[in-house]
Amino acid sequence: MSASAAPGPPRSRLDTPLSRELGKKAADRLETLGLRSVADLLEHYPRRWTRRGDLTSFDGLREGEHVTVQATVAKASTRAMRHRRGTITEIVVRDGAGREIDLVFFNQSWRKEQLAAGTVGFFSGKVSRRARRLQLLQPDLLLGRGAAGAADGEADAFAAAFAGGLAPVYPASARAQTWHIGKAVGQVLDTLRDEDVPDPVPADVRARHGLLPRAAAVRAIHRPADEAERDAGERTLRFTEAYVLQAGLLRARARARLVPATRYGRHADDLLARFDAALPFPLTAGQERVGHDLEAELSSGTPMQRLLQGDVGSGKTLVALRAMLTVVGAGGQAALLAPTEVLAAQHHRSLTALLGPLGRAGTLDGDPDGTRVTLLTGSMPVAARRKALLEIVTGEAGIVVGTHALLSETVEFADLGIVVVDEQHRFGVEQRDTLRARGVSVHVLVMTATPIPRTVAMTVFGDLDTSVLDELPAGRQPVATHVVAVADHPAWIERVWARVREEVDEGRQAFVVCQRIGADGGVEDGDQEPAVAERGERAERDENDEDDAPRPPAAAAVDVHEALQAEPALAGLRIGLLHGRMSSEDKDAVMTAVLAGEVDVLVATTVVEVGVDVPNASVMVVLDADRFGVSQLHQLRGRIGRGGHAGVCLLVTGLPAPSDGRERLDAVASTTDGFALARFDLQARREGDVLGSAQSGARSSLRLLRVVDDVDVITTAREEVAALLVEDPELDRHPELREAVDIALAGGREEWLARG
Ligand code: ADP
Ligand code: MG
Repeated sequence: MSASAAPGPPRSRLDTPLSRELGKKAADRLETLGLRSVADLLEHYPRRWTRRGDLTSFDGLREGEHVTVQATVAKASTRAMRHRRGTITEIVVRDGAGREIDLVFFNQSWRKEQLAAGTVGFFSGKVSRRARRLQLLQPDLLLGRGAAGAADGEADAFAAAFAGGLAPVYPASARAQTWHIGKAVGQVLDTLRDEDVPDPVPADVRARHGLLPRAAAVRAIHRPADEAERDAGERTLRFTEAYVLQAGLLRARARARLVPATRYGRHADDLLARFDAALPFPLTAGQERVGHDLEAELSSGTPMQRLLQGDVGSGKTLVALRAMLTVVGAGGQAALLAPTEVLAAQHHRSLTALLGPLGRAGTLDGDPDGTRVTLLTGSMPVAARRKALLEIVTGEAGIVVGTHALLSETVEFADLGIVVVDEQHRFGVEQRDTLRARGVSVHVLVMTATPIPRTVAMTVFGDLDTSVLDELPAGRQPVATHVVAVADHPAWIERVWARVREEVDEGRQAFVVCQRIGADGGVEDGDQEPAVAERGERAERDENDEDDAPRPPAAAAVDVHEALQAEPALAGLRIGLLHGRMSSEDKDAVMTAVLAGEVDVLVATTVVEVGVDVPNASVMVVLDADRFGVSQLHQLRGRIGRGGHAGVCLLVTGLPAPSDGRERLDAVASTTDGFALARFDLQARREGDVLGSAQSGARSSLRLLRVVDDVDVITTAREEVAALLVEDPELDRHPELREAVDIALAGGREEWLARG
């Protein structure tokens, strides 16, 4: 469901705008959570359920999360602020296991009387941390019967609605508290009829898997009589999400296969054969195997729709290049799409280098039977761009490298046969959507640098077949990774520079990676606090500046570059700088110097994350490592240990020991298994992020389904859908399912559900 309120008269109860259903005031509140239609509201499922009187466990509260907890007041105190006028009232509350958090109120000293020890209530706010204690700043609250202030009508209504039962605790906002949401949901459910809730899951499927009708499941999840009913409702709705998702993916896949693609076969002494003959190293067994699969597919007449996954450094680019050469050798063209212009330029460089004379046909030292690799980016000077466009339209360019703008209408290919999409570690799928939307039947190969757990591959890339490169080329050295906790041991940073010095003295090179560029480069992660909390926190900080300074901004490459010139341990070393704001010429000059061994230590931003191949680099220092993602760190360290020298990666962090950030760093240090890290990363992230919704800002449609954990549900749903599609490929006999899939496709979900 999840149709947002559409213009015009609503087609069904689910499409009814909440303003019509509940009135403007309630609708405005719910709007703060992005809830506009009845469907939106009914799909806003409880985060958990609580029995009145049961206390919420504080275990697992996460910093930054908006939570509602039920807890008992342990003690209350008020004091004057030290550096400004006003008071701070601190209320310590406990959960059932005696864990404590603090509620902090500014200039509300009356809270001390209101919240006397022993008072039980719901407290709602954003979790923050001061020193080692979690706290809720200026929380909203709803007190139990008998407590001062409990005469409030909302409190009574809330209590009455759930008396004796399980009270749902909803993801809330400052304006739409869990009790507001519960009341609104109750109002809708009171008049909801079964026929208002179309069920995309056919009755026989439901029967086979013991699922409830959808309407019953919706009631069960919001207003369960007991745990068993709630679980049945949740199970049904989770399956329904998986079922609709798989129907969309498998239908897209089936449709794409209906359009025949050009067959690209091999012949004796073709371009690929000559490339292989000149390759200075043998293919790994995996490259060999996947290469055969791709060859077979390219000559089959059915369009390739394949995901190539493999850990950092597993040699995906070479596999993709060989597939492209197969197509080019048989008369077609290949396009390689990178996520950014910088990466496109790097791909262009590395493909050109790999091809040697075979990639320079038409030039003096080129092989006349070879091809040409052409770069096309938006920022190229007009003349160069025009030249590139000409090479592309005449077919002179066999391989074209660029960003997804390459697929725009203005770029015309002579005979495009294969598109390779380098997604790096992102999960976005917009490139291949663009391609399908143009209705072109070309072969598509998507490369992903992060190994993807099977279920995620089945969901996010569920329209693709999968190939895996599971070994690294011979000669790759392991990278030992260590967390350097400068909060606990400030002196260790000296040890870091000393280590860099040792490597350089051995003839090696070093990377120092920073999160920001510098002076006016801005902070690259902009997690804004809501204004109120920020004011509160600032007052709090002023008050407690002795024990909890605000976190300083991350180290900036420009500053670090300057500071290291004066670092005694590095005296006399040649220190270079590389970041995304530099001109292409400057970047090229720096990289050339690095490759020539003229730079000992390269201070850089994450531009070194991908494509940079410096075989002589053996040590990498990542500053403020906690501000990088797990897969990003894994990707970064893949840049060292490439040239037969063992690598060492030092993750420097200022975070104290028990924290989520430190846990992530420890995970990276503890394994070199990209699959394990990908799992860890996904589990640590919030649901919606997994599907890449962050890229388009659209809400993910998956509420209950956890793509990492729900292996069985996803597998079962996929099998059921596959069987159904054999009988009814366009879902003509399953209008509810077709409608659910179409709504999912129309509702801004194209970013993860491939279009047909
Ligand atoms: P990925 O894109 O999977 O991270 P790359 O394709 O960039 O990995 O390969 C990393 C490096 O390994 C490149 O320098 C590439 O030339 C090299 N390489 C690829 N395949 C082999 C192989 N079979 N033997 C040795 N080196 C290889
Ligand atoms: Mg690569």
